[in-house]
Amino acid sequence: MKIIAINAGSSSLKFSLFDMTNMSVIASGLFERIGIDGSCYTIKYHNEAIKEKIELNTHTDAVKILLEKLISLEIISSLNEISGVGHRIVQGKDLYSESVLITDEVINNIDKIKEFAPLHNPAHLLGIRAFKEVLPNVPMVAVFDTAFHQTMDEEEYLYAVPYEWYQKYGVRKYGFHGTSHRYITETISKHLGRNDLRIISCHIGNGGSITAIKDGKCVDTSMGFTPLAGIMMGTRSGDVDCSFIPYVMEQEGLNASEVVDILNKQSGLLGLSETSSDMRDIIKAMDEGNEKCKLAFKKYVRMITNYIAQYYVLLGGVDVICFTAGVGENSCPTRKAVCENLACLGIKIDDEANQVMGEFKKISSEDSSCLVYVVPTNEELMIALDTQKLINN
Ligand code: ADP
Repeated sequence: MKIIAINAGSSSLKFSLFDMTNMSVIASGLFERIGIDGSCYTIKYHNEAIKEKIELNTHTDAVKILLEKLISLEIISSLNEISGVGHRIVQGKDLYSESVLITDEVINNIDKIKEFAPLHNPAHLLGIRAFKEVLPNVPMVAVFDTAFHQTMDEEEYLYAVPYEWYQKYGVRKYGFHGTSHRYITETISKHLGRNDLRIISCHIGNGGSITAIKDGKCVDTSMGFTPLAGIMMGTRSGDVDCSFIPYVMEQEGLNASEVVDILNKQSGLLGLSETSSDMRDIIKAMDEGNEKCKLAFKKYVRMITNYIAQYYVLLGGVDVICFTAGVGENSCPTRKAVCENLACLGIKIDDEANQVMGEFKKISSEDSSCLVYVVPTNEELMIALDTQKLINN
């Protein structure tokens, strides 16, 4: 059985084609600049990569070319080999607590809640509609970033604002990266052979979120109504006091959306360091003595530590801390600094074991009060597995 996992953006379409007999990726790639001059695609397969400039006016063009290429490159022999298509959907609100087969009702719902993810949900719909047009008989599944977080209690997901804002407008914490946190939970539970675990999952990439998990279920997560909340990220501020917004608006002559845009795109590591949003650049500059980068790194580590400490208390202790995503999987200095901040809880890592990049590995020392692991995430595989499960039912 072969399944395609799709992540559609407003001008891009990312895909991974899985062979579900052994869960391997047969081909993956990206269609870029759809509807913009200079559109192109990259397809990686059999240790090769091809990149070609090609006119892509719509997502439907991209899907048609993707399928043609899969056949002409002999990656598949016919379209009949594709049993299902799974789509990543950023926002499912409280409508979806798990993945679902895509029906017209699901499409309408994703559209109805688009105001809650204006950059993402409309783009995902472009991807869904394109596949519906080109492969009308192949079942599709929606996998929501928010679904895993639907087990949070009211006291966790509500903000302390007028209750009617929640009732009337859905103002609450939704949380994101749920597919990744679920993958981490399942992977570590399987590895340790236990489901009764208190896990703190740290997905730290360009975006980042921390999730507290008990017995396989999300108890709390750091992102909120949007992905802006929680820890400091590459370009996002994380938690701030929103009452400085009208003040900055007045000082800078900006409107509210412009300030929020700066909080999303020009803050975080980039904003504080005035150097880069990329942790590799920050660490290099820090080692060369750049003071702003040192400050940005300290603040970044501090905000992660604060959430871990908060969730430690919420969970009544912790059995496993997992680091994942770009920074979590690859940045030894970040993991070391976070764990050093947690030393008072008895959390210790083994410096030698910590010299790991992008590999599943235990990095806690034998005398640590909890286990610490690096777990490479795999959201695409999760999407493919959910798709397989739902189309087999
Ligand atoms: P996204 O949130 O876009 O999915 P990723 O999880 O791919 O992002 O993370 C990308 C980020 O990971 C980069 O911006 C960079 O900060 C960080 N990163 C990637 N490789 C390394 C590395 N070797 N060392 C430190 N940080 C890294």
